[in-house]
Amino acid sequence: MRDWIGRLVSLAAIAGVGALVTGVILGPVFAALFLFAYLVIAMALSLAARARLARWLANPSVDEMPDDEGAWGDIHARLHRILRQQTTSRASLSHALWRFRQAGEAMPDGVIVLDAANRIEWMNPSAERHFGLTFKDDRGRAITNLIRQPAFGGYLDAQHYGEPLALKGSGESDRVLSVQLVPYGDHEKLLLSRDVSRWERLESVRRDFIANVSHELRTPLTVMKGFLETLSDARDADEKLFRRSLELMTDQAERMQRLVEDLLMLSRLEDSRYPLREEPIDMPALVQSVLVEAESINRGEHRIASRLDPQWLLASREEVRSAVTNLVTNAIRYTPAGGDITVTWGLEEGDPVLRVRDNGEGIAPEHIPRLTERFYRVDRSRSRSSGGTGLGLAIVKHVLARHQGQLDIASEAGKGSAFTCRFPASRLAPASADLASVTPIRAA
Ligand code: ADP
Repeated sequence: MRDWIGRLVSLAAIAGVGALVTGVILGPVFAALFLFAYLVIAMALSLAARARLARWLANPSVDEMPDDEGAWGDIHARLHRILRQQTTSRASLSHALWRFRQAGEAMPDGVIVLDAANRIEWMNPSAERHFGLTFKDDRGRAITNLIRQPAFGGYLDAQHYGEPLALKGSGESDRVLSVQLVPYGDHEKLLLSRDVSRWERLESVRRDFIANVSHELRTPLTVMKGFLETLSDARDADEKLFRRSLELMTDQAERMQRLVEDLLMLSRLEDSRYPLREEPIDMPALVQSVLVEAESINRGEHRIASRLDPQWLLASREEVRSAVTNLVTNAIRYTPAGGDITVTWGLEEGDPVLRVRDNGEGIAPEHIPRLTERFYRVDRSRSRSSGGTGLGLAIVKHVLARHQGQLDIASEAGKGSAFTCRFPASRLAPASADLASVTPIRAA
């Protein structure tokens, strides 16, 4: 304000002094003419500066600021400062918006921004994938025309968005989505979607598993209960009936015991907290002892041969023994009497490999990919009658996975099967003689 008064005073002083000098030299008429000309020029300069400012305001740019002096110069400088501040804050806002969009686009969850009329304002690539939409084409379209599942329409109308809704994903895929609407602002909404197919699959595996276990336990329990009722009803049960019933009940109890043991083994193998107790294993000795034990179910019915190289394995003894036992007993159970079974252990392309081969009933190709699923059997009653739990190959697969190995199954219906367990070369262990030189064994 003081600047302004100072400038006015100095302009008035120039006009006054100019008019005075002109008046003294040329007379009062020229003094008046001088003042008139002075005012006209001052007004013209001011109007020109105003016009330049108006032109600049129509399309303001920091680089093309009018370059005026005096009062107009001050206004320009201030406008220039305001414009620069605005440009900086707009740049930082648009950077923040860009980063927000980048974050939105990187999110594995789908996000769709809906306006008050449920039309799409923005969506990220995950939402495009989940619902089979494209932002470019579907922007501005009503979401209800694009997600046509009745459950979604109902969810949108009900306006109770506290709980998410399970929806089928787009197209033929069996993708399951959990979607949730989040209202915000002025009747706008965020539509969030998450791919929960994996959880859904796990949940269905869990349901199947419980149903299978219950079913497996129900059969022997029903049989045992039947015998117990028969025995309690028969007042003078003869010794023969009594013995026979006890034998059959023992069979069923053993079956339940095998099932529970396999279930416990499987749950230990699946529990990541259960540590792998590694130790160097004399594999030829381990396989031999499994074969000796297996003779109790083989009863000389098959010719069992073995070719075992002297390699040792760094692994969990309990787990590897369980895997070998399962493969050998399967070979015995699924090979008709008189068949041949061969167990080999040795190096193949540098990797330690155990193979159990039989010339038994074999497996049709469509079953092979599913054999390691829990409770999957080619012939349910055949497996049960031979004492199978349906968990053997699932156990083998888990044991190998915990040892970074893999199970290969080659089989041909009617000709026989070969189950190959391949361990990584890093699991080869020095034989005990070498070990003794590394780790001195202390006398007790
Ligand atoms: P089970 O207790 O039923 O034997 P497994 O998981 O050990 O369960 O095996 C799954 C299925 O794989 C068996 O029911 C059987 O149909 C098939 N199978 C396993 N080993 C053999 C084999 N050596 N020969 C033919 N079929 C086999």
